[in-house]
Amino acid sequence: MALANMIDILKKADEGNYAVGAFNVANMEMIMGAIKAAEDLSSPIIIQVAEGRLEYSPLDLIGPMMIAAAKKAKVDVVVNLDHGSKMENIKKALELGFTSVMIDGSKLPLEKNIELTKNVIEEANKYGVPVEAEVGRVGGSEDSSKAVSILYTDIEDAKKFVKETNVSTLAVAIGNAHGIYQGEPNLNFEVLENINEEIEIPLVLHGGSGITEEDFRKCARTGIRKINIATSTFNSVNNEAKNLYKEDIDTNYFKLNSAQIKGAYDNVYKYIKIFGSENKA
Ligand SMILES: [Zn+2]
Repeated sequence: MALANMIDILKKADEGNYAVGAFNVANMEMIMGAIKAAEDLSSPIIIQVAEGRLEYSPLDLIGPMMIAAAKKAKVDVVVNLDHGSKMENIKKALELGFTSVMIDGSKLPLEKNIELTKNVIEEANKYGVPVEAEVGRVGGSEDSSKAVSILYTDIEDAKKFVKETNVSTLAVAIGNAHGIYQGEPNLNFEVLENINEEIEIPLVLHGGSGITEEDFRKCARTGIRKINIATSTFNSVNNEAKNLYKEDIDTNYFKLNSAQIKGAYDNVYKYIKIFGSENKA
């Protein structure tokens, strides 16, 4: 239990054919709510902070808090840097004790993505920490600021990438998008099945907020072992706070604190049940 390595958690998920939720957190309340939900469901959990959000949640502050919360948790908790792009942030996360880092070179040409990922893996190896990378382009943008069109992960690119980098986990683009979907998300399971057949390492699905329960379950049966959930938790926390003020405009800070914890808790709880990792801690 406590602070866990990403690969150990995902190996178990592979054996049990389920996915582990990777929930983005931005403050202490969200960390507390997310881990409490995992504890109540006896589920492993991944908590993560995206590089694009560090202006709101500085790595030097939120990082140690995530690690401390993981260490005292009753379940396995992986602490991940989501969508890293700068070596400076990757190095800082590793020094802080993160047990997983993602390098996102998906916007680069394949060769450059391979080179960048290899550099990060070399650094992470010093800490025994696995690296997640991405091939193909997930839609939307990590900070929801713009719509980016989706490019499916090319199977040959993915094979070459994994072979040359020896990366631990791979985020794939199968029609998934960051942020809130415009219209119904339309996942291409044929692409996922092909990737899953050809690639041995655990696969990661980004842009989980908005995908249907049925599709999540299908993903978990088709090699997706880590599913990222960010936007819907932020919305849940925000809505819980809004409702609090709607009920009582003169409420106090401590009720706001509890509302944020509850907002994170409820959303994480819901997705853990869908992903099938309940009672797998
Ligand atoms: Zn992402």
